[in-house]
Amino acid sequence: MQQHAICVTCGAQFAATGATPGHCPVCEDERQYVNWDGQAWTTSESLKKEHHNTFQEAEPHLTSIRTEPRFGIGQKCFVLQTSSGNVLWDCISLLDEATADRIQQFGGLRAIVISHPHFYASMVEWSHAFGDIPVYIHAQDRQWVMRPDAVISFWEGETLTLWDGLEVIKTGGHFPGSCVLYWPEGANGKGALLTGDTIHVNMDRRSVSFMHSFPNLIPLRKPQVEGIRDALAGLAFERIYAAFDTHIASGARTAFDKSVKRYLRIYG
Ligand SMILES: [Zn+2]
Ligand SMILES: [Zn+2]
Repeated sequence: MQQHAICVTCGAQFAATGATPGHCPVCEDERQYVNWDGQAWTTSESLKKEHHNTFQEAEPHLTSIRTEPRFGIGQKCFVLQTSSGNVLWDCISLLDEATADRIQQFGGLRAIVISHPHFYASMVEWSHAFGDIPVYIHAQDRQWVMRPDAVISFWEGETLTLWDGLEVIKTGGHFPGSCVLYWPEGANGKGALLTGDTIHVNMDRRSVSFMHSFPNLIPLRKPQVEGIRDALAGLAFERIYAAFDTHIASGARTAFDKSVKRYLRIYG
């Protein structure tokens, strides 16, 4: 049986071929890095033997899922529940039966939306497991899809409206098609943003960063930061849930605005 190889370093799942892929374009890109011990691969079946997923409620109707022991770049995804259907925001490489069962208890999934290519993970496998639901990827990042499939819906333009006020907003920056998810009912109706690392929450949890590459510390250019600012102009949000362990629980709009100003001061 043909297996879908998964890159151990970035977690991206590849199209099935007779042999394992020779290299991983996602890791070879200047935003990422190749495994120090050389390119390495695994499969879903192997992952299931060595890893499991843990669930953590972030706030009512929002639950994060991550893999233990840590896998890939330590990606985290979120199940966002709304009365009109649930969204998986971002994705992780491991989908086992326990995870699928738990998500079915939440009411399953209606769509998968991904912030940028470092979170493509096993998105096609997840979609198939939940009834071939659409996976929304911004068309500008099309080249980074390593497992093409009919379930992937490449959207274009600046925003993608889902349902119940959910809106995907392209900010660009980290990747040309990098986006965030706006959840107006989040934070007790004050609004929340799910940002992947399109908007990175800093360790002080009072400010955010925007980068071309986080591991290699490559900054963005000034127009890209202005683009992120403009994409979110006029949007009210109290919280930011970022990709890893840092969140801004309150005052996120102010924190975002101050952070943008700091960048623009530095750029001069
Ligand atoms: Zn990789
Ligand atoms: Zn990234």
